Amino acid sequence: MTDAHVHLERGPYTAEWAEEFVNAAKNAGITELCLLDHSYLFREFVPLYDGLRCSSDFIDRWLTRKAGIHTLDEYFRLIDRLRSRDYGITLRFGLEICFLPEQTEAIAQRIRHTPLDFTVGSVHFIDDFAFDHKPELWQGIDVDHAYRRFFEHSAALAESGLFDGIAHPDSVKLFGHKSTFSLDETYDALAAALAKSGMYAEQNSGISRRASAEPGMASALYAAMKRHNVPIRTASDAHTPADTGAGIRYFYDKHLV
Ligand SMILES: [Zn+2]
Ligand SMILES: [Zn+2]
Repeated sequence: MTDAHVHLERGPYTAEWAEEFVNAAKNAGITELCLLDHSYLFREFVPLYDGLRCSSDFIDRWLTRKAGIHTLDEYFRLIDRLRSRDYGITLRFGLEICFLPEQTEAIAQRIRHTPLDFTVGSVHFIDDFAFDHKPELWQGIDVDHAYRRFFEHSAALAESGLFDGIAHPDSVKLFGHKSTFSLDETYDALAAALAKSGMYAEQNSGISRRASAEPGMASALYAAMKRHNVPIRTASDAHTPADTGAGIRYFYDKHLV
């Protein structure tokens, strides 16, 4: 079983910390573990968020607390150390990158010539709306508009050619909001764009631990991915060793891989 999306961010960039995730993954029956962190944690990516910070005080305050605590070099040195050992599990190293449509070229520059095995793109902001931070932020939001823009960003992410995969591809549903219009065509278009770019899509169990959303993507979205032969990769989105591998077996048992 694969866990394609596990964050190191809550501990130091040491082999000992990473090994806690490796051991937890092995105990959970994971045979391929993909470690990553968020782009905003790295100093090199912080300027890419300047436009967002100007248009949202909430995002500005949040990034002031969280952003730029590492450099990419620190992360790459950790990758080197971990690659020099055999842990008896397939280990891959990547980044989860916020897709900011106007920063496509800046993102490309930063991930060129790096030792990363993969990059996964995420829609974490619908324009300047930090939709997945807390339910209160949805007050006064036009849900249909948010859904339309979320999937427009997702399609642009797929078409950008920057990433190997798309993370949590329908996380707009996180707090239970639903569009009044059918998403069938939207799902089909996203799956087609991912297929054209040779990308995978995540079955991500993370949102079901954060809110009472169903695990992974909506069944109609999953069906669209299958119709277009988009590879599916299972992902826990763990931020702790204890959550590593969480929910992965469910996807395999239900044949949702
Ligand atoms: Zn994410
Ligand atoms: Zn994540």
